[in-house]
Amino acid sequence: MDKYTVLKNIFGYDTFRTGQEEIIDKISTGTDVLAVMPTGAGKSVCYQIPALLLDGISIVISPLISLMTDQVMNLVQNGVRAAYINSFLSEKQFYKAMDNAEKGIYKIIYVAPERLETERFISFAMRSKISLVCVDEAHCVSQWGQDFRPSYMKIASFINSLPSRPIVAAFTATATERVKKDIVKLLGLKNPFVETLSFNRENLYIEVRRPLNRKRELLEILQRYKDESGIIYCLTRKTTDEIYEFLENKGYSVTNYHAGLPDEQRRQNQEDFIYDRKKIAVATNAFGMGIDKPNVRFVINYNMPKSIEEYYQEIGRAGRDGLESECILFFADEDVRLNKFLIEKNSNEELSEEEKEKIRKEDFKRLYKIRDFAYYDGCLREYILNYFNEKARPKCNHCANCRDDFELYDVTLEAKSVVALIKDNGERLAKARLVEVLCGIETEFVQKRGLEFSAYFGVLSRFSPDIVDDIIRRLISGGYAYIDEEDYYSVKLKYEHKYLGYGENKIVLRMYKTPVSQIIKNRSLSPNKALLEILKEKRSILAKQEKIPAVNIFNDATLRDMSKKMPINKEMFLEVSGVGVAKYKKYGDIFIDVIKQFKEGNA
Ligand code: ADP
Repeated sequence: MDKYTVLKNIFGYDTFRTGQEEIIDKISTGTDVLAVMPTGAGKSVCYQIPALLLDGISIVISPLISLMTDQVMNLVQNGVRAAYINSFLSEKQFYKAMDNAEKGIYKIIYVAPERLETERFISFAMRSKISLVCVDEAHCVSQWGQDFRPSYMKIASFINSLPSRPIVAAFTATATERVKKDIVKLLGLKNPFVETLSFNRENLYIEVRRPLNRKRELLEILQRYKDESGIIYCLTRKTTDEIYEFLENKGYSVTNYHAGLPDEQRRQNQEDFIYDRKKIAVATNAFGMGIDKPNVRFVINYNMPKSIEEYYQEIGRAGRDGLESECILFFADEDVRLNKFLIEKNSNEELSEEEKEKIRKEDFKRLYKIRDFAYYDGCLREYILNYFNEKARPKCNHCANCRDDFELYDVTLEAKSVVALIKDNGERLAKARLVEVLCGIETEFVQKRGLEFSAYFGVLSRFSPDIVDDIIRRLISGGYAYIDEEDYYSVKLKYEHKYLGYGENKIVLRMYKTPVSQIIKNRSLSPNKALLEILKEKRSILAKQEKIPAVNIFNDATLRDMSKKMPINKEMFLEVSGVGVAKYKKYGDIFIDVIKQFKEGNA
């Protein structure tokens, strides 16, 4: 088989994505490779295809148990003989897998770096023909990167100890020059072909918000995603638990994930998310590294992460199926303070004081870069791509700062009414109360305080409460007022309010004409919606029967393509993107029946 046949018959794709073909060619013809690819670019195919083309066995070293399980499950579904070796396996399972490996039953073996050193693994490796060693998340070998793992330092000596040197291919999504140099040196790559792919992910809508009330904004976003999967990243375990409980109490289908949970619970929660039993995952950055869940429709960063690398990796988990997805970062200055605290506190016991200090300094530099991003007025995508040393158009037209479908409204006069009300009440009202009075809403609170008799009651009733709320927020973010957390969150005036209305001291609202949901919808493929729902339903029944994640049957992009092409025979079915021969054999007739019934019902 050649690479094109493998791509089509095994993975079900017609064409290679940018970069894939060249990487595959180099590996298959014996050249070491260092590939820097953003999440979702399609890295796995780059080493899985050579692994299938080469004689002998390929070893994939990966630090992430969840990724291994997932990848192996996908390979097996596609008819490839593969296995994983990690701490998930019982001793009996481990020895059984090693026996099979030695018999040459597997073509691809995923292994955790710690396992390379076990006696049984070494004895297998010494007696087998290992043609390719692929190192995933290769930046873990570098102390300059953000996920340094000492166990990665031993990979080079493992490779050198093999009877004949295999081809070595390293993959990472971290592109700094220093990290790249470290990877080449510390993994012992020989004259590698280095490929750095564009980090641009066109299907991600990017936005930074400065919410005054994060929970409220969170709920607003979630309302738009009733049945879709998404991840909410928080900085600390405490916030993760808090948001998880908050959403659970509101009746959302939600799970949580952080390093403080017992192993078994974490595994269960992660599975619930991957298997679509829970729609939303609230998590710290410990979650998701390597999770190939293609249908994550939104990622919300409830706090600002500590670096652009981390942020981009997190939002990269959205839209891996190539479909439109939304990424919103919540930011406030306190996020910078919290990150500083976490960086100071971070103590990896395996490192010397000197090493720790070195890492801390780098962490601070990275933190200031993401803070600047949060304040940036220009194209957000351009900022990120430039950060990764990539040239970009100055306007992507798919981030919040590039939108031009808005009109500016000068609401300085209205803002002055807000100021007058604040003064009139001795600066004792919280923001929500101010909105009630200004919009003329007679709540219990308003009546109890006799506020319906205030001269300001209803003066802004021609605006919706949301807009009045926005005006108050802008008074606060513009430095004319502040929220006094020590005094029941009442809104108080700063001295600067006296300048309001003079010169540049204006309050201007940006009113968008199109909601984000509409923008995303307009850019999405237009599948046959009714059929798509039926196909999803079928997939979910099969997934339950087989006890595997629904996306391991077909991912969302494949079902969409299927709903558009409506195949009713083998040839047509194999034309659907993501359908290989093995999957056709297993599921083809089942889905063809569903499509035929749908067509008859609609004839
Ligand atoms: P990552 O680079 O993050 O490891 P993956 O290898 O998981 O990305 O690929 C992301 C998604 O893209 C997967 O669903 C995969 O099946 C799909 N994919 C990979 N290569 C192609 C291709 N040539 N055509 C269409 N889809 C592809």
